[in-house]
Amino acid sequence: MQDFPVFDSRYARHARLTDLRSDTVTRPTEAMYERMREAPVGDDGLDGDPSVLKLEAAVATMLGKEAGLYVPTCTMANLLAVLAHTQRHQQVVLEANAHMFTTERGGSLLAGLAYTPVEGKAGAMDLDRLATAVSPGAYRIGVGLIAMETSHNNAGGAVLPLDHMQAVHALAQRAGVPVHIDGARLMNAAAALGIPAAALGQHAESVSLCLSKGLSAPVGAVLAASGKAIAVARAYRKVLGGTQRQAGIMAAAGLEALHTMSARLPEDHVKARALSDSLNAIGAPLAASAPDTNIVQVQIGGTGMTSHQWVDALSEHGVLTRPSGNAMLRCVTHRHIEDDDIAHATEAFAQVLQQRVLA
Ligand SMILES: *Cc1c(COP(=O)(O)O)cnc(C)c1O
Repeated sequence: MQDFPVFDSRYARHARLTDLRSDTVTRPTEAMYERMREAPVGDDGLDGDPSVLKLEAAVATMLGKEAGLYVPTCTMANLLAVLAHTQRHQQVVLEANAHMFTTERGGSLLAGLAYTPVEGKAGAMDLDRLATAVSPGAYRIGVGLIAMETSHNNAGGAVLPLDHMQAVHALAQRAGVPVHIDGARLMNAAAALGIPAAALGQHAESVSLCLSKGLSAPVGAVLAASGKAIAVARAYRKVLGGTQRQAGIMAAAGLEALHTMSARLPEDHVKARALSDSLNAIGAPLAASAPDTNIVQVQIGGTGMTSHQWVDALSEHGVLTRPSGNAMLRCVTHRHIEDDDIAHATEAFAQVLQQRVLA
């Protein structure tokens, strides 16, 4: 929908725009702008910023942790968790399609670590392979951290079952290894399970949470963990250049996001399911995943067009999506996607398919 406070003029040529690229495209609400204008601010690099401190405490409480650390991005939150928990020349063990592996593993170069992927299903690591990966061996360097991800981005927004999280944590505790949850979309997972976020947070020593995806804050993420781990992360945040000054302006939007946006995430999940159903109603060769949350994966492999060709063709109809490999598109629902956007997107898919058949 085009109800953005400030519309991106690069897309002005489209009479109608449905942006399914990511939930990161969500704009701040009016209430966020108001909170930003009125936020008490200090200096987060000196003795702290009152709005940042408030946000850090609120997220820590929500995730059942002692302390929080406000950072510009969830990528930095994850890297700081890695740095806080590990020593150089250790391994970080994580699911093979995890965002921390596929997209963020360059961090291993900075941290002097080896990232070890473990195959899984729907984002959940195979427990036998995980046990093998963390078992000590004379020829192995030690494991410093195990990471999980929920909801799982590359697994189409899949939500890890609670008993899986509990099993991974138990296995890690037996091995004396801390666990981190990449919870960029943790609130989506909690909403899908119908449980408080702390019920997920209890299965790890640290959790990251992105405020600028479905929660609609303009920027920012929070890392939550023990006071001790956060003190280490705070020192590394300075090293990485992630310490900001009057960051309370952004944190105030984050607080508003946390308190008002979590409750509406199920709406995004309903819309994702509706999109999946209507694309599957078009039928073969299109096949859409049945989403747990707000991400729909659309298989286009049998259409004779690549995912990049699909992205271009759909964008001609004012429907923005992203390729995921050569044979799949990724569509993400969010606060700006309405029922008629689902119809618009479905119509565009049908037309592109038809034009392809006629060609
Ligand atoms: C988006 C995402 C991140 C990174 O978040 P940024 O705030 O964009 O740095 C990390 N993990 C997962 C699972 C994500 O989806």
